[in-house]
Amino acid sequence: MIIAVDGPTASGKGTIARALAAHFALPHLDTGLLYRAVGRQVFLDGGDPDDGGDALAGCAFPDSRLQDPHLRDESTGGLASRVSIHAGVRQALFDRQRAFAVQQGGAVLDGRDIGTVIAPEAEAKLFVTASVQTRAHRRFLEMRERGVQITLLEIEDDLRRRDERDRNRAVAPLIPAPDAMVIDTSALERDEAIKAAIRAVEDALGTTGDG
Ligand code: C5P
Repeated sequence: MIIAVDGPTASGKGTIARALAAHFALPHLDTGLLYRAVGRQVFLDGGDPDDGGDALAGCAFPDSRLQDPHLRDESTGGLASRVSIHAGVRQALFDRQRAFAVQQGGAVLDGRDIGTVIAPEAEAKLFVTASVQTRAHRRFLEMRERGVQITLLEIEDDLRRRDERDRNRAVAPLIPAPDAMVIDTSALERDEAIKAAIRAVEDALGTTGDG
């Protein structure tokens, strides 16, 4: 069984995907990390993330890059969003994601185009979203906890920029698959969002849980 979880930055899709993986005992891949690793690699190599050639060269990042603590930085998220518009980058990362998706026993993947491009045959597709204000506030609290000096307004501006880039790019834009179930987490607590996601997957699979 493949579960595809797509949605914008800080929508709660990562939390939901991890919870679904634990609930259904499936392996999980956060595909955003791959794009972040490319963005970080381009930065370390002194390349230009907006240049298709430099961005493609960044796809040859060593596996150890996936453990780089800077992958979680806001600035790396911005670089990831810039390198991810290049068709060559998306193609270079395709096989790795596809192999993870079709492994025996199934998998949960979260990202932007899992239900539309990487695994259109996924048995369950969720599109997790939330208002930009809610997402900015969540990200702000996370950053404050990590001791990062950033204002709510800066985060909100950055999220809007990234949303726009993700939604309007020519290749694999961020849009819900026609058969995705949309979960808006704006008014939901973490546990409520997870419960709603588990229920949505059970509905998609035609199974009923114990609630
Ligand atoms: O999800 P996360 O914020 O880690 O993703 C970072 C960036 O990587 C996103 O803004 C998006 O541009 C890109 N991305 C993508 N396709 C995916 C996952 C992430 O284009 N499947």
